Amino acid sequence: MKKIFSNLLLLSSLLLVTACGNAGQTTNSTSSASSDKTTDTTSGASEQQYTDPAELKDTYDVIIVGAGGAGMAAAIQAKESGANPVILEKMPIAGGNTLKSSAGMNASETKFQAEQGIEDSNQAFFDETLKGGAETNDQELLRYFVDHSASAIDWLDSMGIKLDNITITGGMSTQRTHRPSDGSSIGGYLVDGLISNVHEREIPLFVNADVVKINETDGKISGVQVKIEGEEKTIKADAVIVTTGGFGANMEMVVANKPELAGFVTTNQAGSTGDGITMIEALGGQTVDLDKIQIHPTVEQETSLLITEAVRGEGAILVSQAGTRFYNEMDTRDKVSQAIIALPEQYAYLIFDAGVKERAKAIDFYVKEGLTVESETIEGLANEIGASEADLKATLDTWNQAVTAQDDTEFGRATAMDNRLDKGPFYAIKIAPGIHHTMGGVKINTLTEVQNKANESIPGLYAAGEVTGGLHGSNRIGGNAVADIIIFGRQAGEQAATFVKK
Ligand SMILES: Cc1cc2nc3c(=O)[nH]c(=O)nc-3n(C[C@H](O)[C@H](O)[C@H](O)COP(=O)(O)OP(=O)(O)OC[C@H]3O[C@@H](n4cnc5c(N)ncnc54)[C@H](O)[C@@H]3O)c2cc1C
Repeated sequence: MKKIFSNLLLLSSLLLVTACGNAGQTTNSTSSASSDKTTDTTSGASEQQYTDPAELKDTYDVIIVGAGGAGMAAAIQAKESGANPVILEKMPIAGGNTLKSSAGMNASETKFQAEQGIEDSNQAFFDETLKGGAETNDQELLRYFVDHSASAIDWLDSMGIKLDNITITGGMSTQRTHRPSDGSSIGGYLVDGLISNVHEREIPLFVNADVVKINETDGKISGVQVKIEGEEKTIKADAVIVTTGGFGANMEMVVANKPELAGFVTTNQAGSTGDGITMIEALGGQTVDLDKIQIHPTVEQETSLLITEAVRGEGAILVSQAGTRFYNEMDTRDKVSQAIIALPEQYAYLIFDAGVKERAKAIDFYVKEGLTVESETIEGLANEIGASEADLKATLDTWNQAVTAQDDTEFGRATAMDNRLDKGPFYAIKIAPGIHHTMGGVKINTLTEVQNKANESIPGLYAAGEVTGGLHGSNRIGGNAVADIIIFGRQAGEQAATFVKK
């Protein structure tokens, strides 16, 4: 009978692992995740279940390295396509950066947009993503991405993961960022849903399983070396899907590729160390855009917690220490970040009202964590942040007039202007940019086959998600990474399953 270990993930608390399911055994674990603040998620704690290490076999059809969103989507699709996959995750919990994702998942021409009267097109999604990426995106990947975004939303819905509450992120012209029905952060909800589907399909998911090498025999992918329970084991498979995420938590790698980011905080979970890139490079795989590392404009610096873009998407503005706006808050992340860095103080405040708090549920978490200051009046808020009462009041008055007129004459903001900021209490969060996303990675084609330096596919080697590069170009649009991992994770699962059946 299958033994499944169950971890109760509580924010920054000790992890107690209790055997459940049919095994009926109990074991304790002092996982390193417990003390790791970066495993915090704004999307809620959840009970997670993992396979007993004793059940690891010597051979599988497909090995999936990394249990984030891309890995789990790949596993589910591989199983649906007739293969027997296994997922190996090096951290004590599954989820990766996916667990931390907050604003949502972008998609165009979806049934939920249609139901809500939101007009959109795959072409507009393509054009705006290309513009956001300074036209450096891999356009073949981008075309596949936009054309499969609506079906990815349907696929998730068919598995009980409903993303029918839609908001907007910077650089987009319309609402296409899909999130859970109650407007909460996407990460915990998505990861819980994917893990449930992994279990329903009896796909083994091992944690504390660190893949250190991808093996090749006679020019063919033949499996991996994995360190588990203090031992290194060889696990065989004809196909390996690498879904190890980015390298935003590997400061050495970040600084080697972009020296000016030395000293920046990171929003990434501790396991985002670029292992997949290193292992694929060792096999002669090609990398692209490794120096394209995104800093996110709104990161609380004491905790490294990302303040989701949905806060601006629901109407918040940014002000300097002087209490005045300084840039179009809904421009792309690279530009908003640079505008903050250009301020003498190199930080800013997100300012919003009770209406924004009501619409962007993640704010409840920020309040609970003590990241906000608040006041019933704008003048009171000015005092809280040490800005001039008169200047902050004038800023809000001018902004509210712009919302009413739907015309931001100061900075040309054209989206997320549906509601005035006039319902007390008023809130502020002090933020500055932090390392957030690594746009570069290994080169894949639209079949997710990893490319070597001669642009040929390495047979049996697939990759999906943040470990890959090219889709986002030089700047990722908020909401496009979660779409990336589901769309290309699925594709990797299907292609690898087809490959091993040949
Ligand atoms: C705070 C935050 C908020 C975000 N919000 C959004 C958002 O709202 N919308 C959006 O589109 N994007 C968002 N992103 C980006 C997005 O979450 C990620 O790009 C995406 O989830 C990456 O998914 P992935 O499956 O590729 O990698 P991950 O989810 O990071 O999973 C990779 C997994 O592989 C594991 N791994 C690594 N190396 C090994 C190894 N050697 N052996 C075994 N396992 C290994 C890692 O531990 C990890 O669990 C956010 C990112 C952060 C950090």
